[in-house]
Amino acid sequence: MVSASRARKGTVARALALRGVRDVCLVERGNLGTEASWAAAGMLLPQVEADAQDAFFELACKSRDLYPAFAAALREETGIDVELDTTGTLYLALTEEDHEEIEKRYEWQTQAGFAVERLSGAEARELEPCISEATLGALRFPKDIQVENRRLLSALANSVKRLGVEITTQTSVSAVLLDENRVRGVQTARGAISSSTVAIAAGTWSSFITTSPQSPLPTIEPVRGQMVCLEAKPQLTRHVIYSPRGYVVPRQDGRLLAGSTSENAGFAKCVTAGGIAGILRNALEISPAIRDLPVLDTWAGLRPRAADGLPVLGPCGEIDGLFCATGHYRNGILLAPLTGELISKAIVSSQR
Ligand SMILES: Cc1cc2nc3c(=O)[nH]c(=O)nc-3n(C[C@H](O)[C@H](O)[C@H](O)COP(=O)(O)OP(=O)(O)OC[C@H]3O[C@@H](n4cnc5c(N)ncnc54)[C@H](O)[C@@H]3O)c2cc1C
Repeated sequence: MVSASRARKGTVARALALRGVRDVCLVERGNLGTEASWAAAGMLLPQVEADAQDAFFELACKSRDLYPAFAAALREETGIDVELDTTGTLYLALTEEDHEEIEKRYEWQTQAGFAVERLSGAEARELEPCISEATLGALRFPKDIQVENRRLLSALANSVKRLGVEITTQTSVSAVLLDENRVRGVQTARGAISSSTVAIAAGTWSSFITTSPQSPLPTIEPVRGQMVCLEAKPQLTRHVIYSPRGYVVPRQDGRLLAGSTSENAGFAKCVTAGGIAGILRNALEISPAIRDLPVLDTWAGLRPRAADGLPVLGPCGEIDGLFCATGHYRNGILLAPLTGELISKAIVSSQR
């Protein structure tokens, strides 16, 4: 079994190994965990942005709710604490328009039975004194939480090594090799690898891997996201704080992440002056108190987006033995545990 790609490759490879699949091999073009999964903010927020209780919302909530057990299992296996922080998220209304938006969200989510608390501006400031005095109101989502995604990547890499997964880095997969409509392996820059099952998990580069002209992989496009990392010691906030225009995420070590942009800039994974200026403007709108914080770092990553913005999960096209785990767009960290479960289950049942 070859898993061509890291959060994605890592979760899929780990879930397969835990299901007893032998000879799992993970092939990575560069080094493990250096792309979008590394660049992310680690927010696990299915409720914060949801306008309706659709199938994607159900999937996202299910994956978020797997996190406590997922984090505990990784700690048990590897000793690495992925810093799952269950304080919750505050969604601020800073304008009248924001306020209408959060009222709608509160109505449908309470009616559907989801945990959400409505706060006045004063109540929100009592909870998190750093937020803007212009806050008109807020929603508190106690179940929308955060994880330290870089620690998660280290834990996954450590876990798959312990489970005996063969990891090949600095090796690009160029094509899925076929016998008519059946997978027989992959072509890599270092030669072919034989396997009757392949899972493509190459993020925004997934559709560069060739299959057959009749069954190409779905088109995945990059959406650039930039981030700014500030130093807040002592921490300014305990909650993740979100607005319709930006967010700040406190880390246990005193870093405060501010994000992000959403740009169609091709594969140019760079930080821009305009991007950083916009992120800081939106973060200052949330909390003017960040004005004096030192800037520690900036970076950018490429979110993998399919045409409909939904993840591409499961058997791929008309080819026996080919699976996809890509197109996770803005929610790949959130969807990591469920992706591993779903793909490994689909692969194991296809082999019966
Ligand atoms: C700024 C930013 C903030 C974000 N914040 C959040 C958040 O708060 N919460 C959330 O849930 N999600 C967030 N995301 C989205 C999340 O990061 C992505 O959805 C997720 O990381 C995608 O994971 P992936 O494994 O598919 O892709 P990647 O992490 O990009 O990994 C793909 C891997 O495949 C490798 N690869 C590519 N081509 C080949 C090849 N041909 N052969 C072998 N290997 C190959 C790459 O080198 C890379 O290691 C954010 C993204 C960004 C950019």
